[in-house]
Amino acid sequence: MSKVILQPSGSVEAREHYEDTIKRPVPIQALSEYLPAETIDQLKDFYPDGLVPTWGVTPGKNNVNVPKWGKIQTGDVTLFSANGHIFASGVVVMKLQHKGLATQLWGYDKSGQTWEYIYFLDEIKQHHIPYIEFNRTVGYADNFIIQGFNVMREELSERMLSFFDLKSEIYLPDVSEEEYEKEILQFEDHDNLDTYRTGKGRKEQPFLRKQLFKNKKVGTCGICGNQYPVDLLVAAHIKKRSKCSREERLDYKNIVIPMCKFGCDDLFEKGYIIVVDGKVLRNSKKSYTPNLLEKVVQIESRECQHWNENTRKYFEWHQQQ
Ligand SMILES: [Zn+2]
Repeated sequence: MSKVILQPSGSVEAREHYEDTIKRPVPIQALSEYLPAETIDQLKDFYPDGLVPTWGVTPGKNNVNVPKWGKIQTGDVTLFSANGHIFASGVVVMKLQHKGLATQLWGYDKSGQTWEYIYFLDEIKQHHIPYIEFNRTVGYADNFIIQGFNVMREELSERMLSFFDLKSEIYLPDVSEEEYEKEILQFEDHDNLDTYRTGKGRKEQPFLRKQLFKNKKVGTCGICGNQYPVDLLVAAHIKKRSKCSREERLDYKNIVIPMCKFGCDDLFEKGYIIVVDGKVLRNSKKSYTPNLLEKVVQIESRECQHWNENTRKYFEWHQQQ
């Protein structure tokens, strides 16, 4: 699950850093001197414009910040705060330790340390969230003041991320296969919708999305074949999720495919289109308005790239509904 990183930035130094490497992101060329080619290639994928919002923390007194930084993962959300409010957020893409790079970007602090525990951000957003709103959302005392770099517990983080809708749809937390399986087992007896609504099944969607989109910004709809930003694609179950057995839900490599929000997801879910022998077809059991038919004609007869020997049984189930 994604966590919240508290990053108070009221000091002169922090304000300068915010201007120098978040507001004016670091060009990838400037990083390539310090980082291995493999990392640079990854960064190029994540930042097509070549500009990388970059932040770093010092080790701190007695290395107090090091274990905190150690908890940071892809998909965590940093909250920058100063003067009584949270003024910006950003989503963690990747982190690395690099003294040379940090020195180049920000120099040294008074105690001779540099901000070498680096993390790269994306989806920078401006906010004006007073501390009191933050405190009440996560359940802190009204007079709590954000002080010092910290990483919040998952449960408290979740309250903040959901309430202010801060989660990324691109950069997702790492959920292991074991965690996914555990969650499927844990909630199999519960009403599926209820599990979704109460947010108990929080790991399932990130896990499935990560399998399909792998932190990429653009993906391909499995029905119409069009490419879209991944926040316009869903990880859709071919066989209705609530009808799947435990084994079928664990068959995550075959049971879900990407579908776009421009119709394919709904058209498929409601049975207006079916996939037969790898081809997208209209469904003779349904009735169509002329306008709906116009839409369906646009995708009809396309080859579905996700139809294969492993997924066939799920498409057949869908077709028979
Ligand atoms: Zn589509």
